[in-house]
Amino acid sequence: MTAERPLIEMRGVGKRYGEFEALRGIDLTVQQGEVVVLLGPSGSGKSTLIRCINLLEEYDSGDVVVDGIRVEKGKRLLSVRQEVGMVFQAFNLFPNHTVLDNVALGPVRVRKLSWEEGRSRARTLLARVGIAEQADKYPIQLSGGQQQRVGIARALAMEPRILLFDEPTSALDPEMVGEVLDVIKTLAGGGVTMLLVTHEMGFARQVADRIVFMEAGVIKEIATPDVFFTNPQNERARAFLDAVLNH
Ligand code: ADP
Repeated sequence: MTAERPLIEMRGVGKRYGEFEALRGIDLTVQQGEVVVLLGPSGSGKSTLIRCINLLEEYDSGDVVVDGIRVEKGKRLLSVRQEVGMVFQAFNLFPNHTVLDNVALGPVRVRKLSWEEGRSRARTLLARVGIAEQADKYPIQLSGGQQQRVGIARALAMEPRILLFDEPTSALDPEMVGEVLDVIKTLAGGGVTMLLVTHEMGFARQVADRIVFMEAGVIKEIATPDVFFTNPQNERARAFLDAVLNH
């Protein structure tokens, strides 16, 4: 039996903003079906790391390979972007389209589905994230939690092989965090490959196959959640957990 090719491979990835090194020598692989959570203090490079995977940020050195294709500017970038869905902190929905069409739009424009097909797929996905009854409303008429669930349905509509989440619940009122985390948990249980940045420690522990701890642009520790949350090996990881779990 041959080993399966990883879906994401990062090798020696570096990223600078001017003189500042936001990422330094990042090596990380994510296998099909795996859920990987990035943790670390603010400014440690988590968001930059995931944005390099679909080239929302251009990395300066090393390689990012998604499903065997090197992520770089050029004609293959579109095919990489179609494999990688992203859910943002700010939901970025189109205010002048209904919820249904926000979800249908990508497949219609990019995958060339008819509107009928696109809307039919969108209805199925809105049901999957638990807001089928909101289909004909406009984003502004929805709560933050509901809007983020639309954001997730919209990412899924492109049938990506990987979903990236950049702090998907940080813009939400506390009472809406749970409903969005529940949707993500269901997707994770259903075998969707995910790389997530979150500050929700309980959720990270439940959902992750592996925790990646970053500090100052470097991966300091990669561990299973059980090991990471009970017996982190890295001193900075220990201090970070002390700070976030005992505040
Ligand atoms: P995290 O997601 O861990 O909070 P980020 O990846 O957002 O960290 O940022 C890492 C570092 O890079 C931070 O110090 C941040 O200030 C800096 N940074 C991020 N984006 C830019 C940018 N566009 N220009 C300059 N510096 C940036």
